[in-house]
Amino acid sequence: MTADRIRHVALSSVVLPLPTPISDAKVLTGRQKPMTEVVLLFAEITTEQDHRGTGFSYSKRAGGPAQFAHAKEVAEGLLGEDPNDIARVYDKLLWAGASVGRSGVATQALAAIDIALWDLKARRADLPLSKLIGSHRDSVRTYNTSGGFLHAPIEQVKERASESVAAGIGGIKIKVGQPDMRTDLQRLAAVREHLGDDVPLMVDANQQWDRASALRFGRAVEGLDLVWIEEPLDAYDAEGHAQLAAALDTPIATGEMLSSVAEHVRLIEARAADVIQPDAPRVGGITPFLRLATLADHAGLQLAPHFAMEIHLHLAACYPREPWVEHFEWLDPLFNERLETRDGRMVVPDRPGLGFTLSEQAKAWTVDTYEVGRA
Ligand SMILES: [Mg+2]
Repeated sequence: MTADRIRHVALSSVVLPLPTPISDAKVLTGRQKPMTEVVLLFAEITTEQDHRGTGFSYSKRAGGPAQFAHAKEVAEGLLGEDPNDIARVYDKLLWAGASVGRSGVATQALAAIDIALWDLKARRADLPLSKLIGSHRDSVRTYNTSGGFLHAPIEQVKERASESVAAGIGGIKIKVGQPDMRTDLQRLAAVREHLGDDVPLMVDANQQWDRASALRFGRAVEGLDLVWIEEPLDAYDAEGHAQLAAALDTPIATGEMLSSVAEHVRLIEARAADVIQPDAPRVGGITPFLRLATLADHAGLQLAPHFAMEIHLHLAACYPREPWVEHFEWLDPLFNERLETRDGRMVVPDRPGLGFTLSEQAKAWTVDTYEVGRA
C-alpha cells in the first residue's frame, strides 16, 4: 500500500501584485526599486493512487521566469518515482541541474517540488506537516513585519503595529538602515514609546550598514531591549556579523539571503548570528532546511525563518528551541485558508499537509503553466 508512483506534475508561474509599492533600506540607499509584486512558482504533484501535494517557491524583483524555466527542465525526472523517497528524488533533480550549481535559482526551482512532496506525504498520512516531521509545539511566537516598512510614515507604522497586536500577533519589527541613522533612531524610539516596554520589538537593516555603522547603531539601542537586530551587514560578511554579535548584548539575526545549506554552515561555524533566519524556498526546500536546522540547534542558535509563514510555521514548530515565525499577510489572496493568531502566537493548522489550497485568485494571476505526465 505504500508503493506509489508520481504520474503528473503541473507547474505554474503566478504574479501576485502588492497593494502598495514596498521600500526597505535597499530602496532608500538606491540599490533596488520599490517592490510591486511577488512572483511564485507553484508545483502540484499527483500520484498513481491519486495523492496530491502542492508546494511553492518565490522571487522578489527578478528571477521568477528563471525558476519556472529550470523547474520545467527537470520536472520530467519525477515521473515514475516513489513520492515517499523525497531525499533520493531531490538528489536526482539536483544532479539533473548540477551544471548550474547547488544554490540560488537552480535549487529554488527544486524547492517548489520538494515542498510539494512533503505536503503530499503529510496529506497522505492525514497529518499536519509539523506532526509528520515531529513537532515540539502547536503554536509559534509570531511578529509582524509588513507594517514596519520605510515607505510608511511613522503614524501609519504605529497604527499598523497596534492593529497587529490587537490581532494577537505578539511582536513588531520595523525597518531601519536609512542613509541618515538619526531618522532610524527617531522612528524606533517613537514605536517603542507607542507600544510600551512589554511588546517584543525587532529592527531590520536589510544589509545596508558597514561594520562601524552597525556597531554604532547597536550601541545606541542597547537600552531598548530589542529582540534582535536583523541583517546589520552584508549577508555574506560572516566575520563582521560574528564581531558584532560578540560586541553587543542585543542578539544579531541574519540568514534570509543565503541560498544553500553550505552558505548557512559558514554562518553557523563563524558564530555569526544569535538568531538564524533560513528561508525554505530560498535554500532549496524543506529537505535542506531540516538539515541546516539540525546544525543550527546543535550550535545553540535561535530560529526565526524568513517570510512564507505558510511553510515556516510548520518548520518552526519542529525546532527544539522556542522560535519565532514572521507574519506577512501578502500571500493570503493565493490561498483559501487563513492562519490563526492569538495571544502572540500563530496556531499550526490541524489540516493535513501545509493546510492550504490554491484560490481562484491564484489561478487568475497565473501567467504561465507547464504539465508533464498523465493528468
Ligand atoms: Mg529581513
